[in-house]
Amino acid sequence: MARPGWLTRFAVLMAVSEVVLIVAGTRTAYPVLLVWVPAVAGLAAAVTAFRGAAVRTGGDLRAFWRRVAVAMGFVLLAGISQTIDVVTLPWSGMPPIGARTLCLYVAGTVLAITALLRLPGGGRTWRQLLTAVLDVAVVAVTGGIATSQYIGWFMNRFGVSESAWWLNIAMIAIAVAGAVVVVKIMTARRSPIPRASLWWLAPIGLAGPLSTLLMTALRPWPHLNGSAAVLPFVGLFGVLAAHAQHRRLAAGGGSPWIAPPSAGRRGSAVPLVATGLVSLLVAIVFLRTGHLTTVQVAGTTMLLLLVVARQAIALAENNSLLDTVARQAMQDELTGLFSRRYFTAAVASTTGPHTVVLIDLKEFRAINDGLGPAAGDALLTAYAERLTALAGRHAVVARLGGDEFGLLLTAAPDTVDRLLASGAEPLSAAGHELLVEVSIGVTDGDTGDAADSYRRAELALREAMAGAGGRVVRYDATLERQLSRRATVAADLRRGLAAGEFHLLYQPIVNLPDGRLVGVESLVRWGDVSPAGFIPVAEDTGLIVELGAWILDTACAQAAEWRRRHGPDALRSVAVNVSARQLLDPALPEIVAAALARHGLPAQQLTIEITETAVFGGGRALASVTALSELGVNIALDDFGTGHSSLGLLRTCPVDAIKVDKSFVDGLGGSPQQEAIAIALTGIAETMGLRTVAEGVETAEQAQRLYELGYRQAQGFHFARPLPADAIDEMLAAQQNRVAA
Ligand code: C2E
Ligand code: CA
Ligand code: CA
Repeated sequence: MARPGWLTRFAVLMAVSEVVLIVAGTRTAYPVLLVWVPAVAGLAAAVTAFRGAAVRTGGDLRAFWRRVAVAMGFVLLAGISQTIDVVTLPWSGMPPIGARTLCLYVAGTVLAITALLRLPGGGRTWRQLLTAVLDVAVVAVTGGIATSQYIGWFMNRFGVSESAWWLNIAMIAIAVAGAVVVVKIMTARRSPIPRASLWWLAPIGLAGPLSTLLMTALRPWPHLNGSAAVLPFVGLFGVLAAHAQHRRLAAGGGSPWIAPPSAGRRGSAVPLVATGLVSLLVAIVFLRTGHLTTVQVAGTTMLLLLVVARQAIALAENNSLLDTVARQAMQDELTGLFSRRYFTAAVASTTGPHTVVLIDLKEFRAINDGLGPAAGDALLTAYAERLTALAGRHAVVARLGGDEFGLLLTAAPDTVDRLLASGAEPLSAAGHELLVEVSIGVTDGDTGDAADSYRRAELALREAMAGAGGRVVRYDATLERQLSRRATVAADLRRGLAAGEFHLLYQPIVNLPDGRLVGVESLVRWGDVSPAGFIPVAEDTGLIVELGAWILDTACAQAAEWRRRHGPDALRSVAVNVSARQLLDPALPEIVAAALARHGLPAQQLTIEITETAVFGGGRALASVTALSELGVNIALDDFGTGHSSLGLLRTCPVDAIKVDKSFVDGLGGSPQQEAIAIALTGIAETMGLRTVAEGVETAEQAQRLYELGYRQAQGFHFARPLPADAIDEMLAAQQNRVAA
């Protein structure tokens, strides 16, 4: 704090010296240059102090102090220029002041006002800034008109020329404007600059008019000068303002600047007060003198024009703010599409035939987690653009939140088809080419049921999302029944699980061509409800996690039991189906490891069957599979060839076996085209060193053909149906006897 200390003392010294010089000057004469020394030195001190404040602060504050330093620099130049004027220009009753000097003063004042106006106001729009500038202009003109009357009298009395008279009006106007800006900022609730600094800066605005008064008052002593008398105080007040800033910094910076929400509205009194004052003044002058001067008429006109402009701009600003508020309620910020609120209202109030389409991006969560939120945002934006392009002009396109979109169509019935077709094309987002699968819920409605359309489309969407792949579900009355039936099944399922109503069957997997039993696949049963009927419900409700743990434990217990009874190599492995939902459970590898340990089953005697679709998205599911594989458990890809069928998956996912789907087995013995896939799959499996199991073998001919094509393992009703554990026991015992015989 040493620097502001000596600067302050220096500035005080300059101001005191000036006072001494002026007082002494009324008694004795001395060189005209002398009074300018403290003036110029005081101003230089202020420039230094402002620059010091700029160096120590940051951000908006630094910009402010740098700007006032420049403004003060201009005043300093003006002081020097005026010193030169006093020596070089001719005198005419008053110390001369040149155009250059006046320009420099005006420039300094304007810069200072600008610096104050540019103080952070919470992201002011150009309209708000313009309104503030016009406020200042209004005040300046009002000040000019109000003082012209008085100054006119004052100047006439001292015999000052007409041009100097005009300049003085301008000076006073600008000075008043400057003071008003300072006061305006001071009356704001909070300010980035310390209040004390503002208190010191405010009176500087009065330097102009004060020097004019002093200049005329000091006329009897030609070596004295009004400007020179005032300038050291300008310097001193500047130094004190900077000092207050330093003290604030030393005290810990103070509270942060929060733009007061009402700051913009406070200014609206300015045009009212200004027009009121000027009207009053003009009325008084006219009543007293019977006429108005050019200045008064011109000034009043200018004032009215300024006020009109100011009010028009402020009104436009208000309207645009109102628009923004209304738009924000209606619009989604990220994509620019309509908001959910707008969409539901639009659907409910639509008339005539319409279609509501709700869309959910399936793998959005995985993409967002895997590639980061920036990529997620880019994907949503890209998808929003695609939707807008597809939907056409007559549709309402909305983002309903998260990864859900909505379309309200009143024409173009083929939009849904085009939407599906477009799903096959990748979207580019943040440098990634992404294939997004979507679930779509659709409902058609007419005027009468518009109020219900959104809810129906939502039901259809939930149903579409429940399925594994991306799909479209159209609402109809059966859907509603289906859904309520599903709710009943879910409740029943929960009860059945608690009551131990489930059991497992085991379907043999046999060797080709001899039909020897090499493994089994466990298949869950619940009374007469087929797994296809309750597994999806269990997945939807999350119950599959609990049910799946029970299945794993039961199958491991059974496998360990067979091992004990029939020897360690009686069965190569027992397969257990694990659904996509289970793979998303991070605890799955632990659950499997615990089941193996509990029953003492070696990991390689357990096979986990997963579908391609479940691991296609990568992420959590793929991580689970990798962890399972690391335990030593076999991984088999179920229903191979029907899902995503990405051969790349065979490289990224640690697969030991593929189960060729029944549909390809069904095609055997037909045309070469029908056999092509079954043939290709053995080839691929062989080159990749994978075991192949042909599923759903129902005839001897199929078994024979599979053997010819190179398949060595098969499963199907031709060999055996899913059987209770005892039946497998019998088969294993018979097999042992055959080997022994
Ligand atoms: P999947 O994994 O493809 O199971 C094979 C299905 O095909 C079984 O039906 C089986 O009985 C049937 N199948 C076997 N051989 C033949 C044949 O020669 N002809 C015909 N037409 N069908 C045959 P199931 O038991 O009804 O199971 C259906 C699906 O339910 C399974 O398909 C599987 O995705 C699921 N699932 C069954 N049990 C479980 C389980 O314990 N956990 C999980 N997560 N899913 C299971
Ligand atoms: Ca299976
Ligand atoms: Ca299968």
